[in-house]
Amino acid sequence: MKTGRAIGLPLSIVLATACGGGGAGATPVIAQSFCADALFPDPSTSPYVLPYPPNVSYTMFQGNCSQLGGHRDTFAYDFSHGMGDPITASRAGTVIIVNDNFSDDDHIEGHENNVFVEHTDGTVVRYTHLMQDGAMVTVDQQVFQGDIVSLAGNSGNSSGPHLHFQVFRSRNFDKSNAIPVTFRNAIGTARTNGELIEGQVYQADSF
Ligand SMILES: [Zn+2]
Repeated sequence: MKTGRAIGLPLSIVLATACGGGGAGATPVIAQSFCADALFPDPSTSPYVLPYPPNVSYTMFQGNCSQLGGHRDTFAYDFSHGMGDPITASRAGTVIIVNDNFSDDDHIEGHENNVFVEHTDGTVVRYTHLMQDGAMVTVDQQVFQGDIVSLAGNSGNSSGPHLHFQVFRSRNFDKSNAIPVTFRNAIGTARTNGELIEGQVYQADSF
């Protein structure tokens, strides 16, 4: 589905990478303190639900502040969506950015397809690595929690189909502006603070 594009944002920032297979590199001292200070919202009252339909399960295979790849020094979750699987709105809001023109298997950083949705408190979620022509919403559209926003894909710096899910404090999409989130409908083993654990399977409960 052909859609709009960014409002007032340089494309280079909009398309900044998400996941990817960067090497391990040096010990991320800064990342550890950044992550150690994380305060996760109480999952029972979280405004977020898992970004897929009720009764569906996926593995969260790369989580917050992972030592590898694009999750270093930032908060983000990767879910094991397959090609074309529906991605649903984790929270209601207004679509502010849509790009879905990149092909699914070129593996080039910066070629990520995205939908960005802004919430009423100013936070913004990005749904990333979407399927080419897979966006199901347009800029300025209001979405309700649970609405399908896109189909999952493998665009950009990605080694296989999945969803990169990341929430920012504001319209600053630098990874240092990402914030920790929890999901109020996640069925599965999480940390006591509600943070999802890499390698665990999470089923979406009805909400
Ligand atoms: Zn990711």
